[in-house]
Amino acid sequence: MTSDGRPTTTAEAPRKRAGTSRKDQGQKSAAKVLVLPQTITVKELSDVTHINPVDVIKQLMRNGIMASMNQLIDYEVAILVTSAFSVKVKLKEGASAGTVSSGGPSNGGDPSTSVTRSPVVTILGHVDHGKTTLLDSIRKSRITAGEVGGITQHIGAYQVRYNDKDITFLDTPGHAAFTAIRARGARVTDVAVLVVAADDGVMPQTVEALNHAKAAGVSILVAINKMDRPDADPDRVKRQLGEQGLVLEEWGGDVITVPISAAQNEGIDELLENILVVSEIADLKAEPDSPASGVVIEARLDKTRGPIATLLVQNGTLRIGDSILAGGAGGRVRAMVNDLHERVKEALPSVPIEMMGFDLLPEAGDPFSVVSDEKTARTAAEGKRRDREVDRAGVRALTLEEVHSKIDLGEVKELNLIVKADVQGSVEAITSVLDGLEESGAKVRILHAGSGTITESDVLLASASKAIVIGFATSTQLGVERLAEREGVDIRQYNIIYRLVEDIEAALKGILEATYREVVQGHAEIRTIFSVGKRNKIAGCMVIDGRITRSAMVRVLRDGQVIHDGTISTLRHFKEDVNEMATGFECGIGLNNYTEFEESDVLETYRRERGRG
Ligand code: GDP
Repeated sequence: MTSDGRPTTTAEAPRKRAGTSRKDQGQKSAAKVLVLPQTITVKELSDVTHINPVDVIKQLMRNGIMASMNQLIDYEVAILVTSAFSVKVKLKEGASAGTVSSGGPSNGGDPSTSVTRSPVVTILGHVDHGKTTLLDSIRKSRITAGEVGGITQHIGAYQVRYNDKDITFLDTPGHAAFTAIRARGARVTDVAVLVVAADDGVMPQTVEALNHAKAAGVSILVAINKMDRPDADPDRVKRQLGEQGLVLEEWGGDVITVPISAAQNEGIDELLENILVVSEIADLKAEPDSPASGVVIEARLDKTRGPIATLLVQNGTLRIGDSILAGGAGGRVRAMVNDLHERVKEALPSVPIEMMGFDLLPEAGDPFSVVSDEKTARTAAEGKRRDREVDRAGVRALTLEEVHSKIDLGEVKELNLIVKADVQGSVEAITSVLDGLEESGAKVRILHAGSGTITESDVLLASASKAIVIGFATSTQLGVERLAEREGVDIRQYNIIYRLVEDIEAALKGILEATYREVVQGHAEIRTIFSVGKRNKIAGCMVIDGRITRSAMVRVLRDGQVIHDGTISTLRHFKEDVNEMATGFECGIGLNNYTEFEESDVLETYRRERGRG
């Protein structure tokens, strides 16, 4: 199945590409004879010969040698590369040739226990450009017939083997999932494969996905898909990618494009090979001997087996019996299965597994770690649950008004913006004025700009990148305001360009005055008080008007007088955590750092809304 799925026509393209760059690169250094030492790192070799590092690594791979950027290779190995690019070299006098085997790279001499780990890949791109088809065809083409039974099981990630190297793919395509995990603070992906349909070209979500990947700082590789379509125009795609600021390998940059047909299984080998090239450059390392840590990719509740989580091990080795902590969930690893649903006893770095043994459901994006014993795991998990309540109620990411003080503190050097406007013309007008604007040593950086309404994905990107969302003559999609409130993202809407620019300049200079007005949301009367633990207290309330939201500010009123002003730490309906309670409902409310309330006190919740904009 694997060998007959190999590409035929598409495999030509990279060879041609290497041909062009080889000529250019050869010209730079062919004239003189370069002197090389007995051992040299891949990076140094690339530097002295002016051969693009991508091409050095590819050439080594063609000779069966997998080497990363900082790895030392012998002179005999180096000439396998230089001769392919017609670069003349000789061995430095006095260096003893032939003493070290040229069969493979020598060890970089790293005394630590870190080893190269496999890359973790996410597939991004515009809707209908073939992300799902590509994930399916990679999965199918790499699994042998005997394992087919297992492939119907999706655990959220899977591994394939190519050229004796593993590659891990995250199974949820699209940048919303990618950024949602990042917004929780986890970095999971090493390589983003941007899928662009050759017949459709770069589309709005392509640009959005690209910007999400750039903001995350991951390596980017482009798969030009649907090459089988008669109207496929890969050159147009490349031009459009260039317009988005990507410098492709064939133009001397480091972004590799691979023509494929996901539906017809063509170019998949090329794609996998290039993913390995990109990850060699990224030089991914992990220490398998450490206690395991990583990220929760997915979690679900199974009726009979309880919480089941897909974990991606990022460092160390996870074993049956380990005590584990992930966000607000703790427990012990009782059983693990791999992506083929085989039971396994341990999982090494970059390996995704499904695990049973958590007491509660962790959340996707929660980092996990192994701790000394189960009791510690459970106690720590409980503490985290409490912290999280506090975080959700009290913390805001960054508002435009706060920008200057953060600049003063040295916490902010770039003001990250996401710009959404009604039409493309306005987008261009705004970005041309704002991008690179500099005041007080801080610079505006536009992470993403596009036309249309402000979406959840914009807010998640803002949350993950501590950015502010600027809307011009546009609105927010349903539910977006709430998400922004929860994530603490500042969305600012404008209808006049100069006012927008004025505000940004003023924020950088520190003269943006916030004018807020308070909007009361609702009142709840305290009917009874519960003690929780030694110190904490929960007010058992009835919502008497409006609504109570967990993210709101709250005042405690006694006989009409304000006796406390603060934030809510917990909002519960029976035992359930809730985000909101409406009039006529009973709920339990906990306040941050305040327990002096009494029966018959009234809790008044309010929001601060900006008066200008
Ligand atoms: P996604 O929204 O990016 O996940 O796109 P899908 O994988 O669902 O693909 C969208 C449509 O494009 C489906 O009808 C696929 O069958 C089709 N498609 C995907 N890859 C190819 C391809 O290489 N060639 C052709 N002709 N169609 C493809």
